[in-house]
Amino acid sequence: MAGHHPERYAFAEPMMLEKIDKLFACGIGDLVDLPQIVVVGDQSSGKSSVLEGLIKKPFPRDSGLCTRFTTHIVFRRAIQEQILVSIMPDRYASPEHSSRLKEWGRAVPDLDPNTFRQIMEEAHLEMGLSGNGDETERKPTFSSDVLRLEISGPDQEHLSIIDVPGIFKSTTKGLTTKADIGLVRNMVTGYMKNPRSIMLAVVPANVDVATQEILELAAEFDVHGDRTLGVLTKPDLVDTGAESGVAALSEGKARRMKLGWHISRNPGQKELQDNIDRNVLEADFFRSCVPWSSVDKDKVGVDSLRLRLKEVHSSLVKTEFPRVKIEIKSRLDACRERLAELGPERNNPAEQMAYLTRISTRFQRLVVLALNATHGADDVFETDHRLRIAPAIMSRMKTFSEEMAKYGHTYAFTAQDNDAAGDSEIEQPAKLFEIRKEDYLDELVNILHLQGSLQYPKRGYIRDWILQIFQNNRGFELGTFNASLLATCMKRQSSKWTDVGMGFVSDVIIMVHNYVETALASICNDPTVCNSLMDKLSDELIKRYQRAITNIQFLLDVEKSDTPLTLNHYFNENLQKSRQGHFTINIEKHAFHNGSHGRVVRLEHATQTTRSMSNEDYVMQDIHDILQSYYKVSRKTFVDSVCKQAVLHHLLQCEESPLALFSPIFVSQLSMTELEELAGEAPALKRSRSQLTKEMTSLLAAMKILARA
Ligand code: GDP
Ligand code: MG
Repeated sequence: MAGHHPERYAFAEPMMLEKIDKLFACGIGDLVDLPQIVVVGDQSSGKSSVLEGLIKKPFPRDSGLCTRFTTHIVFRRAIQEQILVSIMPDRYASPEHSSRLKEWGRAVPDLDPNTFRQIMEEAHLEMGLSGNGDETERKPTFSSDVLRLEISGPDQEHLSIIDVPGIFKSTTKGLTTKADIGLVRNMVTGYMKNPRSIMLAVVPANVDVATQEILELAAEFDVHGDRTLGVLTKPDLVDTGAESGVAALSEGKARRMKLGWHISRNPGQKELQDNIDRNVLEADFFRSCVPWSSVDKDKVGVDSLRLRLKEVHSSLVKTEFPRVKIEIKSRLDACRERLAELGPERNNPAEQMAYLTRISTRFQRLVVLALNATHGADDVFETDHRLRIAPAIMSRMKTFSEEMAKYGHTYAFTAQDNDAAGDSEIEQPAKLFEIRKEDYLDELVNILHLQGSLQYPKRGYIRDWILQIFQNNRGFELGTFNASLLATCMKRQSSKWTDVGMGFVSDVIIMVHNYVETALASICNDPTVCNSLMDKLSDELIKRYQRAITNIQFLLDVEKSDTPLTLNHYFNENLQKSRQGHFTINIEKHAFHNGSHGRVVRLEHATQTTRSMSNEDYVMQDIHDILQSYYKVSRKTFVDSVCKQAVLHHLLQCEESPLALFSPIFVSQLSMTELEELAGEAPALKRSRSQLTKEMTSLLAAMKILARA
């Protein structure tokens, strides 16, 4: 019979079949769907009967030994006659259970009923299954371990079939529980889900096909009916009169299944006891029983079913083999990548130290690149704008300087200076401006300056204000004024500097903090490590941020000093300019055109201007001008000092800057406990690492099998 359809499976690559079997044996089936034929059906539908017909060996069938685990039967052509039995542990089995199962297994000379029974009993024992419900200790009834039978010989042809427990709906007292129903269902559907499996769906012909759960399940997983091959059993038990309906079903009239139906007549209980030869029985049945005798001969009997299966199996393997190969390759790549992402192992202080040193070195490199704004040197700057800290801080500095120039003073000076501090040409925006521009950071809330809004400088009040201060502080001076008056004016005029300056420094601190966090996250892809590092660093970071704040506080205190002082020559220049300015304005009123001389002023007018002013007016004017000049010089110095000292030095560049904190030196000073806290592997990570390593081993073994000629 073997040469029945030579053209259809002579080309089946024994090499491929062989390799697929080896892949099964190395356990890769847990990771990659392998092409397989799996026998499924409800309990007592006749699965074992069909299988034993197919493999030509009687299955042991004591009532207690219903199928309780998956059996993978592999046939292969080999010169030597050999039967190997072994157990493939479930992938979720405990290591002890696994290694015990792996030790079990041997070659047996023949699968005669006695040996077969003995093997089945041993397998039960090894898997730790219950006997017939007479143990004191409750043991499981079903196991997810797989018994493997490899039958080789010169007469065998490649075929691999998986026999799973039958699914059932009602429990048996002392043997099966409700939980077992679900367990078996999951086991079976696990095999059915595999898109590369072909389901041999065994259905007894003597029951209403509609009540067979297996067909529903098959339809659910094989929506298009591409990979379900139906086998009708027990045709001899069909009620007289119903036969034609069953025959019609076998012709594919009920549900469309591309692989069609087969009918098999197996021995019943009685016939088994009487030791009737199953082949003779079946042959007789399909030869003489109406209407079965008229069914197409290659659709009846286990021999034709075996042929059909080989055909189906080898064409399945042929189409799926290249895909399996590709999938294993890509799984291997993915596995490698994920292992690489986890980084090297960190289970002892040396490994942990090495790991953190690497991270901190890379961190410091990023700091240098960021401060020099050499963003092209690392792709990481493309991923998150918060890493481009130099341009961001530069632009924040510019805003600070502009705000100080435009809005830093309380009273707008009178116009005559076309500098930004004057008012006429600046368009007045809304009434308030916010001092902070960056989003809040909860963890820094204790040190950051609170958000707030400030008034724009008041216009047109400066004279009244100076006059009031002047009057309140007047002594017996003659045409001069008390020196402390300038200090008083200055304090009031610069009262917004604290908010504007602190707001600015707070914003830069936020930027620096975001930078540290983002840079760490970009370097170290274990979020647990990132979080614990941030925790560890945060106290010292805050101390360092605090230094910048202390520094600006100091600069503010200095500016509030009671003795205004500057050696800056701009002060005098500005002052002369203002004085000159007032003089010019007054004198211009009297200017007129005089032919060839252009605009001129009479001498008496030129000398009269200052004279016409009251003493008080003159002093007022002078205070205004001195304050304006002094304010401008101080403001510029202050802005520069804050930028250079608090920001550039304390926050960015000094050796004690927050950016310099997380360095290899920091790492080298960690204690063993700290190392473990920071870089030790979390249990979840350990688990996924060992899972991945295990996968990797299987995948590498699989690649080796595939590569072998
Ligand atoms: P499984 O639980 O699906 O493995 O079913 P079995 O193969 O153990 O068969 C269950 C019962 O049905 C056994 O007693 C078999 O002898 C009987 N049986 C199976 N197929 C046939 C058949 O074609 N005709 C008859 N009369 N009995 C059968
Ligand atoms: Mg069975």
